[in-house]
Amino acid sequence: MKGMMQHRPLLISNILEYAAEAHAKAEIISVRTEGDIHRQTYPQTLRRVYQLANALQGLGVQLGDRVATLAWNGYRHFELYYAISGQGAVCHTINPRLSAEQLIYIVNHAEDKLIFVDTTFVPILQAVRSELPADLRFVIMTDRAHMPENTLDALCYEELLVDQPESFDWPEFDENTAAGLCYTSGTTGNPKGALYSNRSTVLHAMMVGLIMGQSIPEEARVLPVVPLFHVNAWGIPYASPLLGHSLVMPGGALDGENLFKLMDQENVFSAWGVPTVWMGLLGEIQKQGRKPSGFSDVVVGGSAAPRKMIETFEKMGVNVGHAWGMTEMSPIGTHGNMPKWVKDLPFDQMVDVKAKQGRRAFGVQLKIIDDNGQRVAHDGKAVGELYVRGNTIVSGYFNNPEASAKAVDGDGWFGTGDIASIDQNGILTIQDRSKDLIKSGGEWISSIDLENVAMAHPGIAACAAIAMPHPKWDERPVLVAVAAGADKPALDDIHTHMSEHFAKWQLPDDVIWVEALPLTATGKVSKLTLRQQFADYQLPDLR
Ligand code: ADP
Repeated sequence: MKGMMQHRPLLISNILEYAAEAHAKAEIISVRTEGDIHRQTYPQTLRRVYQLANALQGLGVQLGDRVATLAWNGYRHFELYYAISGQGAVCHTINPRLSAEQLIYIVNHAEDKLIFVDTTFVPILQAVRSELPADLRFVIMTDRAHMPENTLDALCYEELLVDQPESFDWPEFDENTAAGLCYTSGTTGNPKGALYSNRSTVLHAMMVGLIMGQSIPEEARVLPVVPLFHVNAWGIPYASPLLGHSLVMPGGALDGENLFKLMDQENVFSAWGVPTVWMGLLGEIQKQGRKPSGFSDVVVGGSAAPRKMIETFEKMGVNVGHAWGMTEMSPIGTHGNMPKWVKDLPFDQMVDVKAKQGRRAFGVQLKIIDDNGQRVAHDGKAVGELYVRGNTIVSGYFNNPEASAKAVDGDGWFGTGDIASIDQNGILTIQDRSKDLIKSGGEWISSIDLENVAMAHPGIAACAAIAMPHPKWDERPVLVAVAAGADKPALDDIHTHMSEHFAKWQLPDDVIWVEALPLTATGKVSKLTLRQQFADYQLPDLR
């Protein structure tokens, strides 16, 4: 027997209409490429989104068309999210930090009709224009006065909006209609496109809303440092409007000094981003001897939050939520909201739990599989590959039958490529990415564990543990590290510091000092680059 309830499609356009009605005072505050700070409420944003939707129709955008963005976090980028997806087109966010080769591949593969671009990134497009489709059109996201000279024959964003009606009848379509497209960075092979639907995006927004609602009050200001060009800024632009948060959009100023200033001025309550960004902010906090005013909550994800970072934030009264996910998961999989019994633990033990990746979000199922394909117990000890399943997880990749065929197993589970365990309380620990694990003498060593403990050494500011080939042991761990001060600690000293947590055979064979660690397009330490950079390196006992 079927239930007798209405079925309304879950559409992205509903989110902003709701925010404009229910949270009319909340604002989007943006650092603009024009150099100033801009503010508009959700009702004002909705009116501009209507104008933009009309303009897009005028440019011939139709259901299913891909419309791309190459932009910082700001209100115009936010408007594009809603105007594009609201009318059934696909908002294809492009990461400006990709190589020219990847950018060309992605735009051609997605068959974008239009690209909206911030003034900052105009040169990137000009440099590759001849390799992009001839009929592609460009819109620069500024007003007439700030339009840069360009060879793109580009339209002007603000001019598109002028004289457009401040109302728009959103078409009603199937909730499974594609809404967003985000390509994975593709450390191997070509990038692959995760194609989100209206339904998956709305469900993800409600899921993230449940998580945010536990620690961020209505009317609080939320700063997504995580870019709108990477997995929809972890869903914040859809979840925060539901909860009545104001959004503080940082534009391109993402260094510690600028972030501190912005957070301080705008009284940001909660900020979200990858660990490398927080390294910068913590440096500035240390310099100033205080945290930005109002700063109470930080979400760290994208790669493992170093234990020392969690400890430092918690000591200054900033609640840390450690989240795990991936592009293919919209991206949230687990989050760091903790039950009271964890918060009540002695400080060091509480930090130990927060260094784990937290509990699954409702709607995301997790399972761990051993080498024989058997499901292992959630006992905190058994380790294996992590698989996920749910309404916010990809079933395949855009226009890529080969990768799609391998995306999920027969029961619909998606293999994450992460090695993990889950304990009796449902708390996930990511041991490593399978390709980053270090295999020595038939035993695995977690690079994340090595990095966590090494980074707690006062002489080490940042580090990465990578595997080096060894004829007898297969692989041996080596630390690539950035020194915290002028004096670089000796390897013996680092070993003494680490030996409390590791057996002797697990300790790194060497430390290589570098000025900075290479980062990927999404701001994570690039182990691939490190492995290439030190391809000719020889371990001390082999020299
Ligand atoms: P990319 O593959 O381009 O880096 P993603 O952002 O989708 O794109 O990366 C997802 C991966 O990042 C995960 O599979 C996992 O290995 C890693 N990751 C994300 N969050 C965490 C975390 N909190 N701890 C450890 N690893 C993480």
